[in-house]
Order: sequence, then C-alpha cells, then structure tokens
Amino acid sequence: MTDITLHPHRDFSVLRRHPWIFSGAIARVDGAPAAGEAVRVLSSDGAVLGVGAFSPASQIRVRMWTFDGGQTVDEAFVRDRVARAVGARALFVAEDATDAYRLVNAEADGVPGLVVDRYGEWLSCQFTTAGAERWKKEIVSALQTYSPCRGIYERSDVDVREHEGLAPFTGVLAGEAPPERIGIVENGCRYLVDVREGHKTGFYLDQRDNRELIKRHANGCDVLNAFSYTGGFGIAAVVAGAASVTHVDLSGAALELAKANTALNTCHVGASSFLQGNVFEVLRAFRDAGRSFDLVVLDPPKFAESKGSLMKAARGYKDINLLGIKLLRPGGVLATFSCSGLMTPELFHKVVSDAAVDAKRDIQVLRRLQQAEDHPEGLCFPEGLYLKGLLCRAW
Ligand code: SAH
Repeated sequence: MTDITLHPHRDFSVLRRHPWIFSGAIARVDGAPAAGEAVRVLSSDGAVLGVGAFSPASQIRVRMWTFDGGQTVDEAFVRDRVARAVGARALFVAEDATDAYRLVNAEADGVPGLVVDRYGEWLSCQFTTAGAERWKKEIVSALQTYSPCRGIYERSDVDVREHEGLAPFTGVLAGEAPPERIGIVENGCRYLVDVREGHKTGFYLDQRDNRELIKRHANGCDVLNAFSYTGGFGIAAVVAGAASVTHVDLSGAALELAKANTALNTCHVGASSFLQGNVFEVLRAFRDAGRSFDLVVLDPPKFAESKGSLMKAARGYKDINLLGIKLLRPGGVLATFSCSGLMTPELFHKVVSDAAVDAKRDIQVLRRLQQAEDHPEGLCFPEGLYLKGLLCRAW
C-alpha cells in the first residue's frame, strides 16, 4: 500500500476522525497510487493515522476509510461497511410504515462518496468519489446480498464527479430496469418516484420526519407548499385533512407528479392547486393580492454552492422567509428549511429572525428541525449536517 505523509501540524483533523485530507496537507506521496486506490496515511513523524481512498484529481485528495492503520481495505472490508449501514436501517423494515429510506449515507456510514436509497423493491444510488467508484462492483454485489431488490439503478449524473475526474453515468447496475414511476409509501402517504429523471436519487427522503411533523398542523388549514417538487409536504398536509393546498414549483415535470401523487392520496383533488412559477414572484403576487395561509412550507433548493455565494444566498433565504411570514394568518405555522451545508443552523436562525423583524411579527420556534435519521451526520464530520429547519408559529 502506498504511504502518504502529511505536513507537520496537519494531522490534527485526522486525529479528530475527520475523514477529509486536502491536497495542501500532504507533504509526500511514496509512489503513484491509482484513482480510488487505498493508501496509508502517516503523520509527519511517521505515526500511522489510518487508511483512505486516494483521489488524484480532487482537492480532497484522500477520504478516510478507517482510522485503524492496521486495517486492510479489500472486498471483505467494503462488504462489511455496506452490511453495517444496511443493518442499521432494520427498523424501517420492521416498522413497515415506510418503504423508502436511505441505506447508505456516504461519510457518515463509513463509505465516502456512496449514497444508496431504497424505493420499494428498487435501489437508486450515486457514486461521487474515486474511492466509491473503485469498489462499485463489490458494493453492488454487497447490496444484492444484504438488501435484496429487483434492480439497482445508478444516478451518478452529478457535477461533483467532475472534481474527482469521473464522467457522469446513469443506468442499470444490476437486476431489472426500474419502471418509469415507482410507487412508495411514507408514513401512510403514497408517492410516485421517478428514479431516472427525478432530483437526487428520485425523492427528498431527508424530509420524511418533517413531512410527518407538519401533518399535526395541517388539519382544516389552507396550506402553501412553496418549492413543492413532487408534492412532498403538500401531500402529507392533504392526507392530514388540509382544507386546501397550493403547490408552487418551477418544474412542470415535478408538478405533474405532484398532481398524480395528489390523486393517489385523496379523492378531493380539487382542494389542491399546482402553480408553475418562481416562488419569489408568486409569493409577492399573493402578498399583493392579500392572500393568506394557515401553514406555509418553504423548502428551497441549495442557494449557497460556495462560501463566496453565502451572503447572496442568505439574502435569498431572508426574502422568501419575509414573504412567507407575511402570508401567514395570525397563529399560523411556518416550516422553513435550508439544505445548504454552508448555511449553519445559527446563521439560518439569524436570517429567519431578520425576516421576522422586517415583517414586524412575533414568532415562536416550536421545533428546530433537521434531516431524518436514515441520513445520519458523522459526529466528527459536521459537513454531514446539511438540512436544517425551523417550525415556527407567527402571531
Ligand atoms: N419539499 C420537497 C423538495 C423540494 S426541492 C419535497 O418534500 O419533496 C426544491 C424544489 O424547488 C425543486 O423541485 C425545484 O424545482 C424548485 N425550485 C427551485 N428554484 C425555484 C424557484 N425559484 N421557484 C420555484 N421553485 C423552485
């Protein structure tokens, strides 16, 4: 195995069990390891810190597989990591209320660069790093053993692969090709998922707990589901007895599925409306028209892609939150989210409170929200917490 030696004083984060080693921390590479090959990581004084996957094209040059320097990273090791992750989702299998959940959540499950989601009888996955790509065949075989399914589909059509020197890829990895729309059940709500063309691996599974939570605040309510995607929160609200749901999204394809999902869950489809448009403009128009709602959900896409765009993103979050709060009737509930990893919970809290100040409304935080537990965050890898939210009541 090739040895990689770090510069003096650059071993701190590895000793803290953080899995990323940036190129600038590396003093010496003894050899020319191939992309994805396992390398042994040493501190400047020669202490063995662990074993990681080498990625020659990426600024994140090594991603740690293990902090045990004596470990061999081979097929058995990779299979064990998959087995461990899949085994930890056993409660979803046992509970039976939900048949769509994340099986492997990258770094937090000890498999950097690998995301695997189960949608009913199908798996949909992403390989985003050279290390995960190197072990694809073994990972697919382990998934077939530990989480049997009808077929495994790959959705590695993500920009981050470019940083790793990997071309995009989508297609069937094993078993049968999935149907165009897979039916799933989530806490009593039914959704159709398009794993071929949908966002991420097909569905925003990370919001499952939050969709369940808003049901308690939806009965008899007029609900605004801004950035609706395929219906998500709005479907949950309808199932919980909402009087009306207004979905707003830029994507016509997402709204088509939102309509189909509504029809799957209720015979009162007429209580739902589907508006294709820019949330910023639609909410402004609603405000000008004097419209109001009892429950407003704001679940925008990632506004902050880099540190440089964080302040601009913060302004975007503030604008939609200000508009969302203005549309709330007194006593109404706001569920507001940010899935930008760069936006810390503290900064997000500040942004929403700035919006409350401008809106001149008293707002209570009922709960602080985050991604569901099948999307765990490594305790020593804070980058793994990307989804945060606030459930608020506005007076
Ligand atoms: N809440 C959803 C997921 C939302 S993902 C769920 O539970 O499934 C974010 C969505 O915002 C995407 O569907 C995307 O098409 C949409 N979007 C992005 N920018 C937008 C904008 N400016 N106006 C309206 N929709 C937008």
